[in-house]
Amino acid sequence: MAPLLEGKTALILGVANKRSIAWSIAQSLADAGATLAFTYQGERLEENVRELAGGVKSPLVIPCDVSKDEEIERAFETVGREFGGLDILVHCIAFAQRQDLEGEFLATSREGFRIALDVSAYSLVTLARAAAPLMDKRGGGSILALTYLGSERVIPKYNVMGVAKAALESSIRYLANDLGPRNIRVNGISAGPISTLAARSIPGFLKMLEYVRDKAPLRRNTDPAEVGDAGLFLCSPLGRGITGEVLFVDCGYHILGM
Ligand code: NAP
Repeated sequence: MAPLLEGKTALILGVANKRSIAWSIAQSLADAGATLAFTYQGERLEENVRELAGGVKSPLVIPCDVSKDEEIERAFETVGREFGGLDILVHCIAFAQRQDLEGEFLATSREGFRIALDVSAYSLVTLARAAAPLMDKRGGGSILALTYLGSERVIPKYNVMGVAKAALESSIRYLANDLGPRNIRVNGISAGPISTLAARSIPGFLKMLEYVRDKAPLRRNTDPAEVGDAGLFLCSPLGRGITGEVLFVDCGYHILGM
């Protein structure tokens, strides 16, 4: 049997280092035969991302700060030129100012709210709009974004990022409805806490890991490879009937009431 994603192309946004969830998803897609392109934000991360990309024989590593329209435009021009079309887009990007992840949500500034929602939620809308014409050339495609339970439950210190994730999840549903007639599916994975660069900027994150490990039905933390494989499922023909969905990959933690 041919690998699931043989002949498919994917653009992965949000690899910072080998602990990034985006990197786990990239590995699962690469193992299934996809050809991958990666983006990085700013020169600081370029070398890291290039080195990782080399490990999965990626032919394309390009800059893309999602808060800058001209960088998004340029990135998709390059993908269009090099790949001729696009089958899969993976969005693993989130950002909030440090001061907005401390203290009370009540104190969130207008600017802090704007930045968190712009980078973490609006980016999916603008990236989907840029990706759709390239997916049309392939007869359809699949878009995946990463979210967290803090969108619907109050998680200490997650604050404005929880509001941004709620906007992201709602955007997934509206985009799924707009893009469904073009055979483009849009889904999310709500991952349990995983020790990454972004996660460790949340005060008390290590305690959160321990708490979830002790309480989750599977009595362990989420392995990033499990998120990678669920991403492969949603982005591949195995998930062809699924769109507008947020799938929990969190060892069952979200089902608990107490
Ligand atoms: P990560 O490795 O730190 O990845 C976050 C990525 O977002 C980084 O590559 C970061 O680049 C990028 N980013 C931030 N602002 C950007 C911008 N303006 N333009 C382009 N890229 C930007 O952390 P991660 O945990 O894997 O996060 C990936 C996704 O998973 C996020 O959406 C996160 O909310 C979600 N998630 C994480 C967990 C968890 O526990 N780790 C759980 C559920 C969901 P810089 O480093 O340059 O800022």
